[in-house]
Formats: sequence, structure tokens, C-alpha cells
Amino acid sequence: ATRFVLEGLRAAIDGKEILKGIDLEIKGGEIHAIMGPNGTGKSTLASAIMGHPKYEVTDGAAQLDGEDVLEMAVDERARAGLFLAMQYPSEIAGVTNSDFLRSAINARRGEGNEISLIKFIRQMEGKMKELEMNTEFAHRYLNEGFSGGEKKRNEILQMMMLDPKIVILDEIDSGLDIDALKVVAAGVNAMRSEERGFLIITHYQRLLNYITPDFVHVMMQGRIVKSGGPELAQRLEAEGYDWVKEELGIVD
Ligand code: ADP
Ligand code: MG
Ligand code: MG
Repeated sequence: ATRFVLEGLRAAIDGKEILKGIDLEIKGGEIHAIMGPNGTGKSTLASAIMGHPKYEVTDGAAQLDGEDVLEMAVDERARAGLFLAMQYPSEIAGVTNSDFLRSAINARRGEGNEISLIKFIRQMEGKMKELEMNTEFAHRYLNEGFSGGEKKRNEILQMMMLDPKIVILDEIDSGLDIDALKVVAAGVNAMRSEERGFLIITHYQRLLNYITPDFVHVMMQGRIVKSGGPELAQRLEAEGYDWVKEELGIVD
């Protein structure tokens, strides 16, 4: 069964410590949400897990199914089943969405087990339909000229095609209107499985009306300072973050 564990994870950017010891365990079938004010290190956590070179892990451990993630190169992490939908997806001119997806899938499946072109196209078009995306997006350059909402749908398309074990969604709700949000949430809910765990990073509670988390964690100043169930997200929506700071004596 899928199990992803972070222990005392610390990370720095340009020598400045941003993550100050993150402990988290995500099992297959679970949805964890991380909420927190801006600038608190949520995206840094996602990037550090994925091995982005800008973020230096200075201490702690990360394991996926008992394997040391921190020892893996970036592409190995993806192959092992970690997936990140980025807050700001990059545009890649000259690479079509479809080519990008197919090579990502084949990298994940491994040599000798590549997906056939026919099967790939059939799957991609099916998923695009579910996400209410025009199939012309398959042939456009990756994210180039995509609107904010189109980029986010495209991240979810990648998630659906790659069949990851651990899905990290970084503010997938930002830039989405309510209809797009529902489509994206339905895509995520369709991917819920006992074999897959989710880490959903969001600034707003709204997304969690459509994707019900099992656990909600509050992150502040590079630490998880409070954990609870869905009711915690509702309280944050109603009352903001000040009460958490007061309760824990956090000064900023
Ligand atoms: P969040 O996602 O919670 O809004 P981030 O992880 O993006 O927070 O940022 C945490 C802190 O790290 C902020 O102070 C931010 O300015 C800094 N930071 C993030 N990314 C970079 C970067 N690439 N270069 C320099 N500083 C960064
Ligand atoms: Mg932010
Ligand atoms: Mg962020």
C-alpha cells in the first residue's frame, strides 16, 4: 500500500531556511490539505519534495514506499510516482502538449512498456473530454498562451494520464471560476483510490467544499502548526488565521 512520509524536512533557498522541520504521513486513500497564509512555505514544500534544484534540503527525510526520495533525481521521483501540479505551470515553446504527455507517460512506464500511440490518443481524448477541454489543446505548445484556468485543467490532465501514487496539487484552485473548479474537483475525485494519496495545497477553503479532505494541516512560518479534520478548514474560512497565531503564540 502507498505510504509517503516526511520526517523533519528542512529546506533553504539561497541559504535562507524556509522549511523548518515538516513531519507528514500520507497513506494511499487519504487526502491531506495544507492551508496557510502566503509566503509560509507551501510551494517550497512541494518543490522540495519534487527535487527542484533551487530548493536545498538541509535536513530530514522523505520516503515513498520505503524508498529514499531525497536520493532520487527529479525524473526518478516522477517515475517513482510523485506528481506535482504546479502553482505556476511553465510554458514550453516547441513542445506540444501531446508530445510532452506521451514522453512523461513513457518515462513513468519505463523502457519496453511504452504506451501505443492509438491507446495514448484514445486515453488523452477521453480525459480531455472529462475535463471539458477542447482537443485542440493536445496540439498546442505546452501551456503557451493558455489562460490560467486552461493551465490548471492541463495540470489535472497530466495527473490523470500519469496515474501517480502521490499527487500534490499546489493552489490548483487559483484562477479558476466556479464551473472550472467543479470540473477540476470532479477530475480529482475520479482519481481517488486506495492506492493513491493526495496533498492539496490551498489558500482558500472553497476547493475543499468539492474535494473533502481527511486531514487539514495549517502551515505557518515553515512549520505545520496545527492539524485537524475538515472542520479546521471551515473555521479558517470563517475566522482567518489570527486565532491560530494567538492560540500558539506565533508572532510575525
Ligand atoms: P507559499 O507557497 O506558502 O505562498 P512559498 O513557498 O512560495 O510560500 O515561499 C516561502 C518563502 O520563500 C517566501 O518568503 C518566498 O519569498 C521565498 N521564496 C520562495 N521561492 C523563492 C525563490 N525561488 N527564490 C527566493 N525566495 C523564494
Ligand atoms: Mg503564495
Ligand atoms: Mg505557493
